Amino acid sequence: MISCTRRIEFDAGHRVMEHESKCKYLHGHRYAIEATFVAAGLDNLGRVIDFGVVRELLGTWVDENWDHATILNDKDRELGEAIATKTGQKIFYMNANPTAENMADYLLNKICPELFVAENAKCTRIKLYETPNCYAEAISA
Ligand SMILES: [Zn+2]
Repeated sequence: MISCTRRIEFDAGHRVMEHESKCKYLHGHRYAIEATFVAAGLDNLGRVIDFGVVRELLGTWVDENWDHATILNDKDRELGEAIATKTGQKIFYMNANPTAENMADYLLNKICPELFVAENAKCTRIKLYETPNCYAEAISA
């Protein structure tokens, strides 16, 4: 099987509600996404998917929704509304804690199927780095 992977980086703030330690505090990361695609066959130019299409579709979604946003648990609306009111920053709510695991799962199972519905390639793996040393991976069966 041949796959191709595009890396997309972004900056965002988050906090993990009820975390036992310092991750419960609002803090930020330089995140990196590695999105891997596979297709039944290569296209007539020899590609799984054009890297530019991944940048255009997934990169744009990330820019609009996560880049320089604060990503919060839906239960954290009081904090989100305080930040948005005070700073005008965009807040992205998830129905779970914004851990690297949940963010990777959300991209793989919710966002990528919608974004790439018209493409022959399918996103089968999202690797989401929260720091250069720590990442979570969502892999489709
Ligand atoms: Zn963190």
